[in-house]
Amino acid sequence: MPSSPDLSALPSIERLLQRDDVAVLIERHGRVACTQALRDAVAAARRELRAGDTAVVTEAAIVERARILIGANMQPHLRTVFNLTGTVLHTNLGRALLPAEAVAAMTEAATRPSNLEFNLDRLTRGDRDDHIEGELRELTGAEAATVVNNNAAAVLLVLNSLALRKEVPISRGELIEIGGSFRIPEMMARAGAKLREVGTTNRTHLKDFVEAIGDKTGVVMKVHPSNFAIEGFTAAVGEAELAAACREKNVPFVVDLGSGALVDLSPFGLPYEPTVADTLAAGADVVTFSGDKLLGGPQAGIIVGRADLIAKMKRNPMKRALRCDKVTLAALSAVLRLYRDPDRLGERIPTLRMLTRPESELESLAERILPAIQAALSDVAAAEVIRCESQIGSGAMPTNTVPSRGIAVRPLTPKRGSGAALKRLVAAFRDLPVPVLGHVSDGALIFDLRCLEEEREFLAQMSRLSLGSA
Ligand SMILES: *Cc1c(COP(=O)(O)O)cnc(C)c1O
Repeated sequence: MPSSPDLSALPSIERLLQRDDVAVLIERHGRVACTQALRDAVAAARRELRAGDTAVVTEAAIVERARILIGANMQPHLRTVFNLTGTVLHTNLGRALLPAEAVAAMTEAATRPSNLEFNLDRLTRGDRDDHIEGELRELTGAEAATVVNNNAAAVLLVLNSLALRKEVPISRGELIEIGGSFRIPEMMARAGAKLREVGTTNRTHLKDFVEAIGDKTGVVMKVHPSNFAIEGFTAAVGEAELAAACREKNVPFVVDLGSGALVDLSPFGLPYEPTVADTLAAGADVVTFSGDKLLGGPQAGIIVGRADLIAKMKRNPMKRALRCDKVTLAALSAVLRLYRDPDRLGERIPTLRMLTRPESELESLAERILPAIQAALSDVAAAEVIRCESQIGSGAMPTNTVPSRGIAVRPLTPKRGSGAALKRLVAAFRDLPVPVLGHVSDGALIFDLRCLEEEREFLAQMSRLSLGSA
C-alpha cells in the first residue's frame, strides 16, 4: 500500500524568507512579488507530492522554482521583436520607428515640466498645437494645422466638425476599410455625418459629384485608396477638378491621404506618392494623414488646411477627447524639424532609411548571416539567400514593392508532413529571446532582411534556436 505523502516536509514561507538566496531575490524584485512566487512554488510542490511524485523536494529547489516564476512575471508584455516580415510599416508590429532626435525629445518632455500649454512670451495660457503648427505650415503650405491621436481620429474630428447632420458625397470606389476597424461608412455614421455615395465602384465622374452637391452637403470627401488598387476600366475625378467644383458650390473639399508623404519620395528611389503639399496646392481645403506611416514619426493624426476650418475643429469639444499627449507632440515636433533638411532624411528617419537600403547592402548582410542560421538549423532545415520584395505597409503604395534580399528556410523532413515541420520552425524562431518574425510562402519560412539593423544581436541569439527533436 502506498504511503500518503509527507506534506509536513514542505518548508513554511516564513522559513524560506529567511534564506540568503531569497534575500537576493527580494533585493531585486521586492518582498511582495517574492512572497507570492514562493507560495506558488510551494503549492506546486504540494500538488506534485499528492500526485505521487516521490522526488525529494528541497528548499533550494523551491527557491529555484520561485526564481523562474518571478522571471516570467517580470517579463514585460510588450516585447521587442525582429520584424523580418517584409512589411516595413507593419501595423501589428508598431509601424514607424523613431529617430534618436525624437526619442530624446520624448524623454525630455516626459521627465521635465514644459510649456505644453503655456505661452512663455505673454505668460498666459497657450495652445498645445503651437508646438507643431509652424513646422507643418512651412512643410505643407497650409494656413493652419492641428494634431490628434491618430488619423482615424483626424477623420472623425473633420467630419464631426464640418458635416454634422449633413451629407458627405464620396466616390463608391473609396468606401474603404483599413485593418478591419477603420471603415469609412462606419466612421461617417459615428461622426454624425450622412454618407452620400457617388458614382460606381470602378468609375466616378465629375458630374456625379456635381449632381450630389447641394444645400445638405457638409463637405465633399476624397479618400486615398490605401490598401488596394482598382484596375481595368476605371475613372476617378482628379483632385484639382473636384476642388474647383467644390469651390464653385462653396463646399469644403476634404482629402484623407492616409499615409501622406511630406516630401516627394521619388528621389529616394521610391514610387511617387502625392504629397500633402501637392494635395493642398491642387485645391484641397483640408488634408488628413498619419504621423506613423510614411512620415516616420509617432502615432498621430495630422490635419492641415484652411484656417477657418481648422479653427472650427479646435472649438469642437471632441478635439479635447482626441488630442494627443505631450510625449507624442515632442516626438512629432522633433521629426518635423528633421524635414527641414530633406537631403539627410534618408539617413535620419528610420522608416526612410530602411525603405531605401540598397540591394547590395542587403545582399552582403544575407551572405554574412546565412552560415550562422544554417548552423543553428543543423540538419533540420536548409537555408538559402533569396530575392524577395518588401512592402511598404500601412496602406502606403499598396501596389508597389521594393526589391530586397531574404533568407528562405525550408524543413528537410517532407515525409512527416512539411506543414507540421514548418510550423515547428516558425515557433522555434518565435521562441528566441527576441522573437524573429518572418512570413510563410510556398512551404518556406522567409525572412526579409530589409528591417534587420541589429545584426550582432540577431546572430548572438542564433545558437539558442531550439528545434526540438526533428
Ligand atoms: C491608415 C489610414 C487611416 C487610419 O490612420 P491611423 O493613423 O491608423 O488611425 C485612415 N485613412 C487612410 C486612407 C489610411 O490609409
